[in-house]
Amino acid sequence: MASAPSPKLSTPLEQGVPPRVRFCPSPTGNPHVGLVRTALFNWAFARHHQGTLVFRIEDTDAARDSEESYNQLLDAMRWLGFDWDEGPEVGGPHAPYRQSQRMDIYQDVARKLLDGGYAYHCYCSQEELDTRREAARAAGRPSGYDGHCRDLSAEQVEQYRAQGREPIVRFRMPDETITFTDLVRGELTFTPENVPDYGIVRANGAPLYTLVNPVDDALMEITHVLRGEDLLSSTPRQIALYKALIELGVAQRVPEFGHLPYVMGEGNKKLSKRDPQSSLNLYREQGFLPEGLLNYLSLLGWSLSADQDIFTIEEMVRAFDISDVNPNPARFDLKKCEAINGDHIRMLDAKEFAERCRPWLKAPFAPWAPEDFDEAKWQAIAPHAQTRLKVLSEITANVDFLFLPEPAEDEASWTKAMKEGSDALLRTAREKLDAADWTSAESLKEAVLAAGEAHGLKLGKAQAPVRVAVTGRTVGLPLFESLEILGKEKTLARIDAALAKLTA
Ligand code: GLU
Ligand code: ZN
Repeated sequence: MASAPSPKLSTPLEQGVPPRVRFCPSPTGNPHVGLVRTALFNWAFARHHQGTLVFRIEDTDAARDSEESYNQLLDAMRWLGFDWDEGPEVGGPHAPYRQSQRMDIYQDVARKLLDGGYAYHCYCSQEELDTRREAARAAGRPSGYDGHCRDLSAEQVEQYRAQGREPIVRFRMPDETITFTDLVRGELTFTPENVPDYGIVRANGAPLYTLVNPVDDALMEITHVLRGEDLLSSTPRQIALYKALIELGVAQRVPEFGHLPYVMGEGNKKLSKRDPQSSLNLYREQGFLPEGLLNYLSLLGWSLSADQDIFTIEEMVRAFDISDVNPNPARFDLKKCEAINGDHIRMLDAKEFAERCRPWLKAPFAPWAPEDFDEAKWQAIAPHAQTRLKVLSEITANVDFLFLPEPAEDEASWTKAMKEGSDALLRTAREKLDAADWTSAESLKEAVLAAGEAHGLKLGKAQAPVRVAVTGRTVGLPLFESLEILGKEKTLARIDAALAKLTA
């Protein structure tokens, strides 16, 4: 993807003010990769500038938020290796960090906005709003809220009340153009007709995201808001709200904003959080390393340099500059994600690798009986696996031949490897293997090589039936090391069993 040169922007950072950023997910559903990318960029930004990362939970939507999702979020953050300076479990000067526990604050601010004339009660019913929107559309006028209740007379209010209408609170957008310099996108301008007055408190008194998000950013003294492009349309509203909060003495400053590019999935459609491909749990189950996943996700909008795709999180933190983020949509490429993860598997030290594979050597992933697992064999085979895996879950099928009483049954592999003459080859291979030195994989290789020569087969062709006879599959770890670790007795018995099956 061509990366447009991004202008270096002047931010308060250059004046040496340590930034305060926030990661503020809503606990709905499972954590997804878009969320992780946002957390990563905020975390890297905070750490790079020795700033503060605030972790806030935006759980004001009782109908959609759940405790389970909240726990999953915390678990995901821990698994990814992120730490935060203020937030759940660590506390901080602006506690509580769960919005559901801050309702009185929002009520208070909403009251101040109403009293100051920055907001007003809107009595329009949904039906009325819909009808007027349709009419505006048909007439080619802007279809947002039309300001109907901006300046109601006392009589009109009286009348609406008498009708039993329950008003929402609506923020009064100033009739002026709003311009700001996005840290990723440069200067952006919004004209008033495109940013209508908007609801901030429901008729039942519940404050909306539109209010609680900027209010908390103000109270928590956030200096930089880094979030997905999908939220860009709320930024001019929030800037206007900030200005009101500053006049009311609630906020000190308007933060800087940087909107991270969209992530595109299959078929060049926006990757949605409902997409199975975006579920973080899926990546965890498949055995992505957090370091591999984060490396890949950092590339969704950023890069360390043109010629280096693989790097550690420390390298990212050292180099991270928000003004280097590319505003163009980024494509989520699973193949590349796996390849990068594989490289991180290679970077682990051998002992660490053997330990990280543990979950996939047990139920529910492992098909063998727990008592058939052999630690010495595992330690012997692990280094051979480390050079090949893309994700840790692949380990199970690669080593099951060591711990299952019989090799896994895989008909496709069998038919592919067992050809006319395979029985003769296997018979010779058995003979040569029987006479080989079983303390040396090299000697086992020579045995199979010699068997192949006797039948006019190259090593690759000769080794396929042996591999399937012993491991059950046509692909796997380096064969001769595998045979050595499995041992002579079992290897020969499996070749015998394959011969019996072939001649049956
Ligand atoms: N709770 C919002 C969300 O998850 C946060 C948006 C923001 O970063 O401002 O979409
Ligand atoms: Zn209204």
